[in-house]
Amino acid sequence: MTLRVGIIGAGPSGLAQLRAFESARQKGAVIPDIKCFEKQDDWGGQWNNSWRIGLDGHGEPVHSSMYRHLWSNGPKECLEFSDYSFDEHFGRPISSFPPREVLFDYIKGRVEKSDVRKYVQFNAVARHTSYNEVTQEFTVTVEDLKTNLTETHVFDKLVVATGHFHVPAVPEFKGIKTFPGEVLHAHDFRGAERFNGKRLLMIGSSYSAEDIGMQSHKMGAASITLSYRTTPMGYDWPWNTVERPLVTHFEGNTAYFSDGTYDDFDAVVLCTGYQHKYPFLPSELSLKSPNVLYPSNLYKGVVWQQNTNLFYLGAQDQYYTFNMFDAQAWFARDVMIGRIQLPALDEREADIADWLERQAALSDHDAEADFQSDYLRELIDATDYPSFDLDAVSQLFKDWMHNKHTDILGYRDAVHRSVVTGTMATKHHTRWINALDDSMERYLNGPSQEDSSAPAGLTDRHRGGQEDLEGSGAGPSLIRHAHTSVS
Ligand code: FAD
Ligand code: NAP
Repeated sequence: MTLRVGIIGAGPSGLAQLRAFESARQKGAVIPDIKCFEKQDDWGGQWNNSWRIGLDGHGEPVHSSMYRHLWSNGPKECLEFSDYSFDEHFGRPISSFPPREVLFDYIKGRVEKSDVRKYVQFNAVARHTSYNEVTQEFTVTVEDLKTNLTETHVFDKLVVATGHFHVPAVPEFKGIKTFPGEVLHAHDFRGAERFNGKRLLMIGSSYSAEDIGMQSHKMGAASITLSYRTTPMGYDWPWNTVERPLVTHFEGNTAYFSDGTYDDFDAVVLCTGYQHKYPFLPSELSLKSPNVLYPSNLYKGVVWQQNTNLFYLGAQDQYYTFNMFDAQAWFARDVMIGRIQLPALDEREADIADWLERQAALSDHDAEADFQSDYLRELIDATDYPSFDLDAVSQLFKDWMHNKHTDILGYRDAVHRSVVTGTMATKHHTRWINALDDSMERYLNGPSQEDSSAPAGLTDRHRGGQEDLEGSGAGPSLIRHAHTSVS
């Protein structure tokens, strides 16, 4: 009987799995019967963003945590598909940090070219899964969100590709319940225009806090305070931004910090990360993990240790993204079709333990980038995924980190070289700090003249105050001075 493969989710990871099978088919392999279920009405996962907050039109939790004016936060050269370059898609060099819509277009371009849409059932949400140890089959119950009818599907292999940045982690803080201003989680953030003139508190010290904070600066927030639990980000922040240790409690609109300082705020954004949640899986098949580079219990970061018919893609924290999902999908494919023989349980356990030991010793971002590069190297070496220069990508990650420390508002204006094509990115026509139209049309076709989306009262100081197209690459000349926090 033909192998039956179920894939839950048609974001970049699920699409990588479809593409992996298609690549094998094109090379003459007999591929399994494949069905992919996607709860949204289009593919792209996080990149298929929504204006909605809370529930979507079907009453399902909104999946995407992305927002207006979101641009790539890492160089696109670090995530480029090695079998589908940016040059191939756009027909010309583009800049290194495109906005969401441009990356979404790139993701779609590859899967449209390979004709895999026929495998995807849209508006189809996986509700429940059981595994029969005797027959070694998964039974997955899927609801069609348009008809509300449920169907069951039986698979020999199941791929979980539902992402892990959509169920917010929402910690409690004493007094927050009576904070009179707006309180929201980053998942529900849709754009910083309404923070113009506002005093903002971000809790968290990772990518969301950094980017939502700087989006708010760009849109003219009065002040931005970033409250960290473990480590401050330590960037050279603009004049109206400070870091403080963790909030201890709120009294009215005043937040108190653990160093004894306090300040008044108009809004609080919880940038406190996300939970791994797989409500359609029984607990024995469900990954429980913090957001780390190597979750335990997954051999090669992909194969479920206790049931090797189950695969997770994209379950780790991500320096690499699209190309890592590819490497994982190619590996998972080859395990499924028997090209890769898995070692015995204890050998797999030892391999996982080695990676976890290495992970525990990682000292900084540079070491983390090297760690994930080494991880990809293992996967790519095991399959026919077109290899690329991983050391060069590691160096790109380090340059990027360095640039962030040099100029947190200007690192997206830097250009990097593709390791796939050798093409040097072009300098974008508008510096990130001044770009207020994130559409693909504006991105590809020309500099902004007057952006209608700019909130009233936005001044050149907020936007950096420099002309575009001057090509300096330097960050905006902001004067750095102490925030007026009371201590
Ligand atoms: P997702 O993109 O989350 O896709 C999962 C898919 O599964 C979704 O389409 C969802 O609808 C579907 N699904 C979920 N549950 C079910 C179910 N029960 N049944 C059926 N379908 C289901 N990466 C970058 O490379 N660059 C960036 O600049 C960047 N910015 C980001 C910004 C934000 C705010 C966030 C949250 C993430 C960002 N990322 C970025 C990382 C991003 O997560 C990855 O690029 C990528 O989207 C992960 O792909 P995925 O397929 O694993 O998961
Ligand atoms: P994250 O990287 O998992 O970081 C979560 C943060 O929340 C950490 O700083 C953590 O602090 C903090 N935190 C967790 N619980 C807390 C608590 N109880 N109190 C205080 N702080 C707490 O999550 P993220 O920043 O949301 O990023 C998720 C993904 O989105 C990443 O892949 C990122 O690249 C992506 N993203 C991209 C962009 C973009 O510009 N393209 C923008 C936003 C997000 P500790 O360090 O103490 O654990």
